[in-house]
Amino acid sequence: MTKGKATAVASGRTIAETDEYEIVEGNIYFPPSSVNQSYLSKTDHSTHCPWKGDAAYYSINLDKTELKNAAWYYPEPKEKAKNIKDYVAFSLFFQSLHDATQYTKMDRGSEDPHGNYDDSNRAFLQALMGRGQITLEEGKKILAAIFTAQSNQDVNPAQVTKDDIDSYIAAAADALSPLDFEIRSTLHQQTKQRIYAVVNSISDPLTQMATTRTSEEMFYIKRLLDAMFETHNTKKSEVMAVTGMQALEKRVTKGSGRRDSEENSQLAVDKGVTGEQAEKLLAALVKEKWLEHSQKGYYKLSPRALMELRSWLVDAYNEETDDGDDDWQRIKFCEACKEIVTVGQRCANSNCNVRLHNICETAFWNSKPSKQCPTCNTAWEGKHYVGEKVITSKEEGLRRKRSAGAGAGASAKRSRAADEDEDEDEDEGQQDSGNRRRSRPGGDEDEQPNGQRRSSRRKTPEEEEDEEEEDEEEQEQEEEEEEEEDDENDD
Ligand SMILES: [Zn+2]
Ligand SMILES: [Zn+2]
Repeated sequence: MTKGKATAVASGRTIAETDEYEIVEGNIYFPPSSVNQSYLSKTDHSTHCPWKGDAAYYSINLDKTELKNAAWYYPEPKEKAKNIKDYVAFSLFFQSLHDATQYTKMDRGSEDPHGNYDDSNRAFLQALMGRGQITLEEGKKILAAIFTAQSNQDVNPAQVTKDDIDSYIAAAADALSPLDFEIRSTLHQQTKQRIYAVVNSISDPLTQMATTRTSEEMFYIKRLLDAMFETHNTKKSEVMAVTGMQALEKRVTKGSGRRDSEENSQLAVDKGVTGEQAEKLLAALVKEKWLEHSQKGYYKLSPRALMELRSWLVDAYNEETDDGDDDWQRIKFCEACKEIVTVGQRCANSNCNVRLHNICETAFWNSKPSKQCPTCNTAWEGKHYVGEKVITSKEEGLRRKRSAGAGAGASAKRSRAADEDEDEDEDEGQQDSGNRRRSRPGGDEDEQPNGQRRSSRRKTPEEEEDEEEEDEEEQEQEEEEEEEEDDENDD
């Protein structure tokens, strides 16, 4: 028996809560008395374990939602599993421990029927589950702490090898596989760090992502994804991220008031969330590593979320095509590593689906005779972006143009030099987007009535801010217009 608080929560309801539990193969087994049976109904499903015996299953019932076979127990366990007779275990996403550290202090010495899988493996898996995703470096720290607890000697993270990590990851993956979970690994699109995460290999991942959420929150998450992958992911502007402001816009927070009869018939009525609720939820999603919040204030999906939602995103946002791979799609994959690109580069041909991660670029081009799109042969200049840089580089371009236009030559040069120090790579792209803007008919900046004022004196910081906001709006309008143009052209 392990002492400590553990809970199983689904859609915001506490299904089980206890101060004492058993741990078997990384699962928390809740004493029968700690489980609220009113949420559970028995099913016909059954599985057999050679040393624990036959497991019987429950579905979890929540309003309109039924989470099928999400819990199980052993009514007649074999000798070695007598300690968990009638104890209830839940799919890993519904259970959480409030004190993961105690795993490193668990009693030791019992023979493990599964050979090498021991408390240290359990501790590692639990740490991985608790964090949602870990980097290789974090994995080393976790293992060092576990080894330290095990051996009573200080083990330094630097002493933990990649092989150690690999073997613990493999053991954790084995333990998870009967439960339809797997461990996937990917490289972070920007930092290139190796990331590991536990992902659900069946069922609706959005439900998985939101099992501890209310129905309203789940609807909000869906609309947030729509904002990322539809509203702010167009042929001309593949941002695939939203600003804090955009995440709190009415069209995202406001509920439809309807029940989504098609896909989500099991869900309650969509009442929407308040701005405050949305902000809290965003913070929680960042904390649980479903979202990342960038320095410039953009929310985008984390590696964990991208791994978990990979096929779901394709189903939800890509069109089915009959014959071709030619049609522009909202979700696209890296030509080199075949993972989803939400930050990277795109082909200059806006109808082409070829994308590349910045981190994959060098190796990819090294293997090619020339820097041409492998599908449409357009020259690849690396100046067309995917991600928040689509917007931030435009803004940067405008800012430069403005300061240059203000006639304060010295200060413009100064800011230009400073920017170049900041990020050399961005430079060409900014000029590019600046040029594109200039050459656009209609909304030309120079024709604006305040163009005069801009050139005649320096602006106060507040004015700068105001103008930036105006420009952003302008830009958005422009993007929308472009989209419409595009749509017309496509027809
Ligand atoms: Zn890649
Ligand atoms: Zn192309």
